[in-house]
Amino acid sequence: MKLFRIQGGVHPDDRKALAAGEAIRDIPLPPFLHVPLQQHIGAAARPVVKKGQKVRKGQLIADADGPISAPVHAPTSGTVVGKKKHPAHHPSGLPVLSILIEPDGEDRWIDLEPCADPFALPPAEVAKRVAGAGIVGMGGATFPSAVKLNLRDRFELDTLVINAAECEPYLTCDDRLMREQAAAVLDGVRIMAHALGVKKIIIGIENNKPDAQRAMLQAAAEFEEVFVVGLPTRYPMGSEKHLVQVLTGKETPARSLTAELGVVVHNVATAFAVHEALRHGKPLVSRVVTLSGEAMARPGNYRVTLGTPVSFLLEQAGGFKMNPARLISGGPMMGQPLPEPRAPVIKGSNGILALSAAEAADHPEQPCIRCASCVSACPCGLLPLEMAAHTRAGDLEGAAKAGLKDCIACGSCAYVCPAHIPLVQYFNYAKGELTTREKTKLRQMETKRLAEARAARMEKQKAAKKAAMAARKKAQAEKKKREAEAKAAEPDNAQAEAEA
Ligand code: SF4
Ligand code: SF4
Repeated sequence: MKLFRIQGGVHPDDRKALAAGEAIRDIPLPPFLHVPLQQHIGAAARPVVKKGQKVRKGQLIADADGPISAPVHAPTSGTVVGKKKHPAHHPSGLPVLSILIEPDGEDRWIDLEPCADPFALPPAEVAKRVAGAGIVGMGGATFPSAVKLNLRDRFELDTLVINAAECEPYLTCDDRLMREQAAAVLDGVRIMAHALGVKKIIIGIENNKPDAQRAMLQAAAEFEEVFVVGLPTRYPMGSEKHLVQVLTGKETPARSLTAELGVVVHNVATAFAVHEALRHGKPLVSRVVTLSGEAMARPGNYRVTLGTPVSFLLEQAGGFKMNPARLISGGPMMGQPLPEPRAPVIKGSNGILALSAAEAADHPEQPCIRCASCVSACPCGLLPLEMAAHTRAGDLEGAAKAGLKDCIACGSCAYVCPAHIPLVQYFNYAKGELTTREKTKLRQMETKRLAEARAARMEKQKAAKKAAMAARKKAQAEKKKREAEAKAAEPDNAQAEAEA
């Protein structure tokens, strides 16, 4: 299959060898599970269980709240201890509302409703079951998957692209999933294609995963609509728009959806979750997580129950062999510092990295030498040095004009910057600040609109009152006039009676 060129990108040492050779192992249940209500993009789920309630594995504990939301299920059987705020995977480190479950050790499922033939279901029903299983994009984006499956209602779709690039260094969870569960992954992929109503499927896997490529090629051999394609190892190959461009030659305009070009992208781990949900009726309650980095005692790939504290996971995996210089949730390019090891594994957790001082390579920031390396590395054709200069000067509007809103925070610019300027941190800060300002502006506009509407309403009421009073006065005057006229006519009547 012909591949197309994309601009920019970098070639970091992939460091996959640390964990890629390790088969997926199960992590036992912790004493308590902290299950956040917000594990996805969109509105947080709404709790539907009470303190002290017994739950079974897979039971709904919090329901989706609106069209862009996802339900949350009990990851094991046990007792609901309560709801409380708990540290979560978020750069702010702020706690999020979570349901605390004490496992009973039996790991007893609800009565599952498997489906023998998902291809016999109407596409909308497949999307409904995917939504009901709480499946979200598991490559880290965590967008509710059913919303993407329902894009067939709004766009003319022809291709499903499966993002199996796994371009972030160190991460190998998708690689292992494909090597060990190729048939199940492919089944999930084909079920999603059925839901989308597309005839063509392309699975893109970077060339540094030859075993995964072989496994998927073998699984897909009998399906002529499925193309397993080797991708050049180049970061950020897994960025949705760039992946579509490499595989189809179609360039997605800024702030547009790939669906507008007829293409929908889903992650490989999401496909596995769809297989589990449709074939076995199992909601999303666990996932594979890569533990890696030179400070990790036993790098590897672990199947972890959602809600398991990272500290417990690390302990079960042998802990650290040296003090980590940096702990990261996700990959080193786009991941976030792990603010709190008590934070639990959630649907979007693809890796935990414990980097040694040599790997973390923290250098002091130097002034920009205007070498333009960041410009060449940017896959989105932006001017990172200009965006950073505007941000530093507090000119966020200027940063936005220079392309800030099109930045995918891939970190390629920061990776090549010889001055070690933390460009992505600048951009993340600026984006957050702009969003806050826009929200404040929207709130102010809304307050102004409401105040004006109220004033107009009062004015209208006042005018109506005035009109009513005038009408009343007029009616009274007319009444008085009629009475006076009647009175004036009275003597004539009396005279008429006398004459009679
Ligand atoms: S790579 Fe760094 S030093 Fe070079 S122009 Fe960009 S910001 Fe400046
Ligand atoms: S982080 Fe943004 S500016 Fe930097 S390379 Fe990626 S897309 Fe370009």
